[in-house]
Amino acid sequence: MRKLRKTAEFLLDMIYPKKCPLCHEVLKDRNKLLCGKCAGKIRPFSSSLCMKCGKPVKMEEEYCVVCREGGHYFTEGRSIFPYGEIWRQSLVRFKYYGCREYGDFYAKAMSVYGRRYLERWKPQLIVPVPLHPAKKRMRGFNQAAYLAERLSCYTGIPWTDSLVLKIRNTRSQKKLDALQRRNNLRKAYEVTHKLDDISILVVDDVYTTGSTMDAMAICLTEAGAQAVYFLTVCAGRQ
Ligand SMILES: [Zn+2]
Ligand SMILES: [Zn+2]
Repeated sequence: MRKLRKTAEFLLDMIYPKKCPLCHEVLKDRNKLLCGKCAGKIRPFSSSLCMKCGKPVKMEEEYCVVCREGGHYFTEGRSIFPYGEIWRQSLVRFKYYGCREYGDFYAKAMSVYGRRYLERWKPQLIVPVPLHPAKKRMRGFNQAAYLAERLSCYTGIPWTDSLVLKIRNTRSQKKLDALQRRNNLRKAYEVTHKLDDISILVVDDVYTTGSTMDAMAICLTEAGAQAVYFLTVCAGRQ
């Protein structure tokens, strides 16, 4: 039996070698998610983080400038890794060049490093940020849905990608005041069901300005969600 499995693994390696999701080198050990070199190189956020959006802040600060001014609509959220060149390349391969299995590593990292947040938030449903149908047709898959499905496997929290639909692309928010901004964000998504006071975890690959998460939070809250949290693989600069 064991020999058979070894042969199967050998054949699988020949046809389809498993690559390190960060440097794209072939992994010698199929059971590892990362190569040794990369495992030593990437570190999750560990400094002081904004208690609402999870962005790095100075040591004595509890909230970042945006959150202090009440600039976000979600309840709370965290990202696992600081976005940089290694991550940019990895995510490009994941999203556009068919390396979907990289998502297994991303979701695993989210479940391991995000565990303490998930235990505190206790979300009842995982929802990926939806792609506009035209974009999804072009790309072939929604990377956030892949992450949501894997994260659901690792955590046991159910997921669905039919609750929120992307109906419009959002315009740039820069020149809008608070009310216009909110209205603009509200138009981007449509929630297909009324929600019964449940708490939701929104999942995506990268968090930057937070406008996507704000839009999701506005729509989900209006549909009846009691709390909207988010978890992303990376957080980048504004
Ligand atoms: Zn590597
Ligand atoms: Zn913040």
